[in-house]
Amino acid sequence: MDPSSSASASPSDELPGRLWPPSHRVQAPTPATASWSRGPADGPPAFEPPTSMIAPLFSRRLERIHICRVTFELDINTRPTSHVLGGYYRSRRLVRIYTHDTRDGRRPFRELFETFLHEVAHHLEYTEPQTFHSEVCRRVPGRMHSQLFWRILGELKFRWAEVVAQHR
Ligand SMILES: [Zn+2]
Repeated sequence: MDPSSSASASPSDELPGRLWPPSHRVQAPTPATASWSRGPADGPPAFEPPTSMIAPLFSRRLERIHICRVTFELDINTRPTSHVLGGYYRSRRLVRIYTHDTRDGRRPFRELFETFLHEVAHHLEYTEPQTFHSEVCRRVPGRMHSQLFWRILGELKFRWAEVVAQHR
């Protein structure tokens, strides 16, 4: 899809101040070199669904690896960003994924899904830490990623890898 045609932003885009700062946001690794590769080196050509399909696909994928006790809102945001890939807004239980890179256009679906799992892990560390064998959210103030966060994210990635492996 032509990135320049995505100017029709949702209303929430007009109110960045109300949401800022997010509880957390993902930064892209400092891009020292060129853009991302467009798919796994050892796999078939990357799967790139239309932007409108991202939210339903993510929801369906998540259902297969974890049923959230507390729902969250998912905002697939087409406003181009250069470094920020996504964020989790704790007070609103909102996961936001930025789909477009300022320079390269639509980010690879694979990368978007990784960002999605990352933000969902933040959601889970707040809303159901006990699911992942912790009594309370062990987030240390000033530290963006707790041990619990990494455990949750690792578990989600592991489960998804199992789903993928079953369908090979
Ligand atoms: Zn994070």
